[in-house]
Amino acid sequence: MGRTIIISNRLPVKIQKDKDDNLVFKPSEGGLATGLGSIYKEGDNVWIGWPGMYFKNKEEQKEVEAELEKENMRGVSLTPEEIKLYYEGFSNETLWPTFHYFNQYALYKKSYWQAYEKVNKKFCEAVLKVARDGDTIWVHDYQLLLLPDLIRKELPHVSIGFFLHIPFPSFEVFRLLPWRRQLLDGVLGSDLIGFHTYDDMRHFLSAVSRISYISNQNGQITKDGRTVVIDAFPMGIDYDKYSNSAASPGTLSREVAYRTSLGDQKLMLSIDRLDYSKGIPARLQIFDLFLEKYPQYQGKVSLMMVVVPSRDKVGKYKDLKQEVDLLVGRINGKYGTVNWTPLHYFYRSFPLEDLSAFYRMADVGLVTPMRDGMNLVCKEFVASKLDQTGVLILSEMAGASKELSEAIIVNPNDKHQVRDAIKQALEMPQDEQVKHMEIMQATIKKFNIHHWVNLFMSRLNDVHDKQLKMSTKLLDDKIEKSMMKDFEKSDCRLLMLDYDGTLTSFTGNPEDARPDDELVELIGKLAEDDRNKVLVISGRDKDTLQKWLGDLNVEFVAEHGVWARRIDEGWMMTDSLDNSWKEDIRPILEIYVNKTPGSLLEEKDFSLVWHYRRVETGLGELRAREIISHMKYLAVNMNLQVLEGNKVVEVKNLEVNKGKAASKWLEYYDTDFVFAIGDDWTDEDTFKAVPQEAYTVKVGDRRSAARFSVNDTKDVRRLLRQMAESKSPVKADKS
Ligand code: UDP
Repeated sequence: MGRTIIISNRLPVKIQKDKDDNLVFKPSEGGLATGLGSIYKEGDNVWIGWPGMYFKNKEEQKEVEAELEKENMRGVSLTPEEIKLYYEGFSNETLWPTFHYFNQYALYKKSYWQAYEKVNKKFCEAVLKVARDGDTIWVHDYQLLLLPDLIRKELPHVSIGFFLHIPFPSFEVFRLLPWRRQLLDGVLGSDLIGFHTYDDMRHFLSAVSRISYISNQNGQITKDGRTVVIDAFPMGIDYDKYSNSAASPGTLSREVAYRTSLGDQKLMLSIDRLDYSKGIPARLQIFDLFLEKYPQYQGKVSLMMVVVPSRDKVGKYKDLKQEVDLLVGRINGKYGTVNWTPLHYFYRSFPLEDLSAFYRMADVGLVTPMRDGMNLVCKEFVASKLDQTGVLILSEMAGASKELSEAIIVNPNDKHQVRDAIKQALEMPQDEQVKHMEIMQATIKKFNIHHWVNLFMSRLNDVHDKQLKMSTKLLDDKIEKSMMKDFEKSDCRLLMLDYDGTLTSFTGNPEDARPDDELVELIGKLAEDDRNKVLVISGRDKDTLQKWLGDLNVEFVAEHGVWARRIDEGWMMTDSLDNSWKEDIRPILEIYVNKTPGSLLEEKDFSLVWHYRRVETGLGELRAREIISHMKYLAVNMNLQVLEGNKVVEVKNLEVNKGKAASKWLEYYDTDFVFAIGDDWTDEDTFKAVPQEAYTVKVGDRRSAARFSVNDTKDVRRLLRQMAESKSPVKADKS
């Protein structure tokens, strides 16, 4: 059994010095640490990250490392300079604003990027010290986007999961980053990439499609022959921790004390880290608007605002702090009376029992971030409401809004809407509050942090298992020899050969891929032996195949199965197929031809093919994406399939595929040796249609249903040459 290795920027531990200068280790209580605690503390599993401190000297470093090791942790030691450039810089001044749609705040500095690369490499070295093939690695968050691919290069078969805890922005925003391609390549080293919401996942896939030119099928993409699965896993909280804490004596006594000081006024609560993504100034302005529009609430309702200090070394956060201080002062100055303070503002953090008391006391939870990956505060508020009263106002820009649809969902930019939502919340009848809270609690209880961890880990295992199944073995000398042995002793061999990319390499113009003399001679020779039934099974049109190879003693399947030709017979159409769809689809594809210089439309008897091999790199791939999504809408209703080949997009009747054609040939002959070779995914149908023991060979990448793979067309010709020149005697009794 392999180990599980968790990696995040920070280790789940706080190391402090007591008054005697001794190091004190406090385990972190964060949700992630709780959820993963059950994993990394087991057996040989480990958690790797920055311990959050700089070492004075080697002795101190050794002491800390020894302590960490006892807790199944390994530290990555970083210098103040590295933290400044990689963490405060690239992570928090470049990625954070971009990913939260504050791209006007983003700094694009080369020194930040270089430090980010360097520190990701440092993390990789720390991983390599403990990891080996067979382990499961789970990388967390935006500080380590390059890490999956760095690990992949060293440990190609290890299972790597990645989870992004912040939003993934729309392509239009992500593309602004000068290092967008490297960041995508980095994270695509994973086997499974998780996001909080479907929208984040959608944005990521669109960025991959437009920047890396890799399309997806149901959230799966293929990168360098490897499947990468992308999916949404909304993160939960440790539900029991919050509901138990809400009932603890410490919490209850604090509540009594706070209640006594506040009197019987209503209370609204907001808790966030100081961050511009949290919409704190806007929330203050909204509270101002509320008191102005509904003066009957003056003296009756207060907003308790907890702002936890954060990233105070980053410039934008200093400005924000000043803005918040100013607004708080202004509102309290404008409305406050001797008996009533509109805003209770705390710029510090609180222990759990205080937070629980605040959650319990609040009539309204006001969670209005401009953008938030998930937002856990709103979930904690709901979990703490043991009597199920209270109302949650939640920004639709928080990932949590996708799950908590029973909250009053608002757009934080629509200040008047939020202002009125506050009134609605304060006036909501109790039975209605309970009804909504009950549903939200059921959701959060079920999809808690443990559920999230289990779901991600089991998905990662599934993906890895599937990859092992899909990854073919390179056809090495040993396999080649045993294949040739089987070939030689057989006396009815069916050899199914794909054409483009298999017998010949790709060229700029499909017309230029005509067989060279060597190929004609090779196929001819192969077909001379009448124990060899050679079937060229191609997506090409029948006339081309006829012109190129028609004089040889071979059989054909053309257009992926629309047409077929047996030896000594004419071309036959396989099935009676409907062709009327072409009239609707042709004009659409012609528009794409007109707006994409270098592309061309090929019309086959039962399909339309858009070629983009000669289109400017990038533009062709971009248009292909557009065509595919355009066509897929139409395909469902018209019984069509949209196939993506090598620099082509083909639209054709759903019933045509190479697998069906291959099955027919298996019926024609009583074979004792079956060989099928092909390079693209239309050949996968052939591989699946033949008996399990058949020699199925994929050319190029190794992700295939075929049993074996070879690297290129040179290998294909070498194999066929061996078969053609095999001198096995014809068995005497089989004449
Ligand atoms: N929190 C805390 N101490 C405090 C206030 C808040 O530990 O004084 C916690 C809070 O309980 C929540 C987390 O900080 O678990 C904030 O998580 P969230 O996802 O809402 O926002 P983030 O800070 O991750 O952007």
